[in-house]
Amino acid sequence: METKALDKYKKEMVTCTLCGFCKSVCPVFEHKGWDSSVARGRILLAYGLLTGEIEADDSVVDRIFHCPTCNDCYRRCPSKIKTVEIVEAARKDLRAAGLSLPKHETMIKNILEYGNPYGETENRLEKLDLKPHPAKLGYFIGCTSAYRVETNKAVISILEKLGEDFTILDEVCCGSPMKRVGGSDDEQLQVVNHNLDEIKKLGIENLIFTCAGCFKMFKLDYPELIGELGFKPMHFLEYLAEKDLKFKPYPHKVTYHDPCHLGRHAGVYDAPRKILEKIPEIEFQEMEKNREFATCCGGGGGLRIAFPETSGEIAGERIKNAEFAEVITTPCPFCVVNLNTGKELVGSKIEVKDMIELIDELLE
Ligand code: SF4
Ligand code: SF4
Repeated sequence: METKALDKYKKEMVTCTLCGFCKSVCPVFEHKGWDSSVARGRILLAYGLLTGEIEADDSVVDRIFHCPTCNDCYRRCPSKIKTVEIVEAARKDLRAAGLSLPKHETMIKNILEYGNPYGETENRLEKLDLKPHPAKLGYFIGCTSAYRVETNKAVISILEKLGEDFTILDEVCCGSPMKRVGGSDDEQLQVVNHNLDEIKKLGIENLIFTCAGCFKMFKLDYPELIGELGFKPMHFLEYLAEKDLKFKPYPHKVTYHDPCHLGRHAGVYDAPRKILEKIPEIEFQEMEKNREFATCCGGGGGLRIAFPETSGEIAGERIKNAEFAEVITTPCPFCVVNLNTGKELVGSKIEVKDMIELIDELLE
């Protein structure tokens, strides 16, 4: 098997001391208990693929893809090994060798054919009473917000209340789902170039996102693929945190879930808390694991679609951590969907609330 993507991580992989600190934080390890399901095990498998000492059989494919790319192992790793980059490189090489998971293949095919991972055929803009127009501020809706939840309506309503001149764009999937599961550079560039052309055409200078996955893809992965962006990607909460927002009271006990791709990957922790602090009568309490220590919801990295059982168990655990509150809020639509799955699995009464919808409801 060729290991073009893994080659660049050879030195990095041999610096793993096998200390096992990554075991103390890995949500997949917590549920599976396999050493091959934690960062050091995945690194050993990837290294074995690189040197040809390990055959890429079904069990190797299973372990390499059984990870939501939450990056908590990187945070905990004393050697600061880029564990998620290694996992994604291994996936890229496995996939190039024809060894990937059927669910992920369908997802990539849907993105390339329909512009979204769900295989939806309706153009996402047709559901909105808006058309793209030249503007400095753009809103990238994202596939989950367009087809699975209604966050887009809340974003548009907030921007209209604030009197902003903004535009939507004739977007396709940002490419994050395919990048996470081993999509090739050529496949990623098909969607990346489409989106960049649309952004350029409209003269957008600031592009806002609610989905943590789309935001991370634009902020960190697009520059790796194409270099300078020529516009600024911002999470909507970063944008809103700088505004003078006036809210109606919300007398409820609320906690906040940090999406991994917004927090640990992209470093956005303060903006959501700054906004929540402004809500009168809110009783805000952090979960025990918060900010960079937050546990994953289990939804990302292609885990939810390929391994729904593991993904649901992880989401259920996160919900159990939040049960002291009436409401758990988070700005990522994908986390909202997965936390709701976890809530059903553990039979919790907590309300999972999209933070963008909460802001829209309370904004005066
Ligand atoms: S924490 Fe880092 S160095 Fe230690 S076993 Fe895990 S990946 Fe290797
Ligand atoms: S990224 Fe998260 S789930 Fe994957 S190996 Fe690291 S800690 Fe475990």
